Amino acid sequence: MLKGKNAIITGASRGIGREIALTLAENGANIVINYRNYNNEIEALVKDIEAKGVKIVTVKCDVSNFEEVENLISEAKEKLGSIDILVNNAGITKDGLLMRMKQEDFESVLDVNLKGVFNTTKLITPIMMKQRAGKIINISSVVGLVGNAGQCNYAASKAGVIGFSKSIARELAPRGVNINVVAPGYIDTDMTNGLSDKVKESILQTIPMKKMGSTKDVANLVLFLSSSLSDYITGQVINVDGGMVMI
Ligand code: NDP
Repeated sequence: MLKGKNAIITGASRGIGREIALTLAENGANIVINYRNYNNEIEALVKDIEAKGVKIVTVKCDVSNFEEVENLISEAKEKLGSIDILVNNAGITKDGLLMRMKQEDFESVLDVNLKGVFNTTKLITPIMMKQRAGKIINISSVVGLVGNAGQCNYAASKAGVIGFSKSIARELAPRGVNINVVAPGYIDTDMTNGLSDKVKESILQTIPMKKMGSTKDVANLVLFLSSSLSDYITGQVINVDGGMVMI
């Protein structure tokens, strides 16, 4: 589905980003993996992707830092030529009730989850506009649609990603660039592993399918939105959540 396309995936060292990288590679895309902290699993991931017969580039970069993102984009362009797909996946949580939330915990979550998306999108759009083609997929969350007690910083950042994406979708549609948002519900990764059994059980009660999603469930939708199968879709938010949120 993506033979010969070049894709950047932010925060691809673990979890959902890692699965997206593998899935796009399986479908023929050359992959740029962005990571913030090096971990031992990155080497294995590089080998797995190489084994699929596509090119792989790894770039260390904190997406909240504009200069580092400039380096990410220029290295990707230099090594692969064009950039056809950008998946803004990198994200963090720093949960707490508003009463107790420190300013820096609000700011750092907004910096990574929302400003990070601005940084990469701003720097990639001139390339995609010139190509008159491109797919941008932003990973938000159902929490950005309905809110969640204890996550006002995270919910604000993810709601911000939705408003940002819809605005840019309108700006770039005439230039052949599609931007869509994937809103996962409750997915089995390091981000959710830390929750207590009690919290996990109460979340499961809110999911009609009564189970967590897998990273593959999210990656499959990203694959569709990266491919020509979704050419007439832009500015949309699609949930992957077992029916948790229906609006
Ligand atoms: P993980 O915590 O498992 O992985 C997060 C990834 O983002 C890691 O690779 C991490 O790198 C990277 N990252 C974090 N901060 C930065 C940064 N400043 N610059 C570059 N990379 C960074 O999270 P998930 O895989 O669960 O989540 C992926 C995305 O999906 C996030 O945007 C999250 O908000 C969203 N999401 C997840 C849900 C879930 O249930 N898991 C539900 C809804 C949305 P490092 O290893 O260096 O920390």
